[in-house]
Amino acid sequence: MTIECPSPPLINQDRLWRDLKDLGEIGRRAGEGLFRPGLSRADLEAKAWFKERLLDAGLEVIEDGVLNQIGRLPGKRGKQPVVVGSHLDTVPGGGSYDGALGVLAGLECTRTLKESGADLDHDLEVINFSDEEGAHGIGTVGSRAMLGLLSKTELDSCGFSQSLARAGGNPDQAFSRVRGAEDFKAYLELHIEQGKVLESRGDQIGVVSAIVGIKRYKVTVTGEPGHAGTTPMGLRKDALVKAAPLFTLLPQWVSEQHPEMVGTIGSLDLLPGAPNVIPAECSFTVELRSVRQVDLDQIQKRLLKYAKAKSGWSVRMIYNTSPADLSSELMDFTGQACEDLELSCHRMPSGAGHDARSFAVAGVKTGMIFVPCTQGLSHCPVEAITKDQAARGCQVLLHNILSLMRA
Ligand SMILES: [Zn+2]
Repeated sequence: MTIECPSPPLINQDRLWRDLKDLGEIGRRAGEGLFRPGLSRADLEAKAWFKERLLDAGLEVIEDGVLNQIGRLPGKRGKQPVVVGSHLDTVPGGGSYDGALGVLAGLECTRTLKESGADLDHDLEVINFSDEEGAHGIGTVGSRAMLGLLSKTELDSCGFSQSLARAGGNPDQAFSRVRGAEDFKAYLELHIEQGKVLESRGDQIGVVSAIVGIKRYKVTVTGEPGHAGTTPMGLRKDALVKAAPLFTLLPQWVSEQHPEMVGTIGSLDLLPGAPNVIPAECSFTVELRSVRQVDLDQIQKRLLKYAKAKSGWSVRMIYNTSPADLSSELMDFTGQACEDLELSCHRMPSGAGHDARSFAVAGVKTGMIFVPCTQGLSHCPVEAITKDQAARGCQVLLHNILSLMRA
């Protein structure tokens, strides 16, 4: 006997697109993009708008201690929920799709499944996580807080607790609804790629295999100040000149280490910083990203060894997260969904951090789906996707949800 699985219902792409456009007006400044930093007035307005959409869809709405918003469609047998999430906050001057696509596609899938009367074993939750973009200096606050991966001290010291209180929350209750890996069936996130890989390959869907780990350092090189007119070249201890060889060495080390690894010197300061004074101090950041811990460790070792061999160098780590592998079962589900929908797909790592990373680190079965964005541009006002791209990603997400419900 063969058991026929009914084909998944089609999402309503007009409704999804309208939601994206409506939300894209909240916190918009003409010509400058969106300004919805986590827990800002505009972000709270977006949360109020989203709550209305959840209620309109007939979902149970729950708000936890850090103002994560959860819309729940109860399953028939009350098993652990399948969770679909992302974030509605933006960077200053951001676009309409980073985060918003994942949340609103989750909502659209939930509405579609509810309307179709699908028999779901598990609860289905769509979550808008608070402050993913790091308005308080640390990112993915909502997802990490929900999973107990942050402490009260961290929330207090970065200023999130104060913003939470201003937004009507209670910082003492921030962790009142912490959930563990055993509380979830799986976590899925649809997101724009924020890079050019899919577009340059002409692929329609990205199957995310892992999320990079990130190490950041502050490097300080000390020299000696002096008059830029009266100090002969041979008598100088110019901090910038001492530091300069590393600016070309580091990209070389990283390229040699692994083709998918990246490294960036993204900010640089000179002291005292005047045209007629020889730099006495040169400080800069080094950022490394890779899906392989060994790459991060190797380049760190080279950097520390290099600095130790020189005089006047110091290296301080300022940020450190480990890479997170995503579920191969969910990658296969996405691959299967693409085959069923006749979409081209490509397996790739994510070079950016996401709420999905929090779930993977916490031990939840986690999957991520990318859709291309125009010219790979993101975190800027011109960030763009097409209606078709949004619809394809959402439909693949819905196929994945159903695969998980049956698994
Ligand atoms: Zn995002």
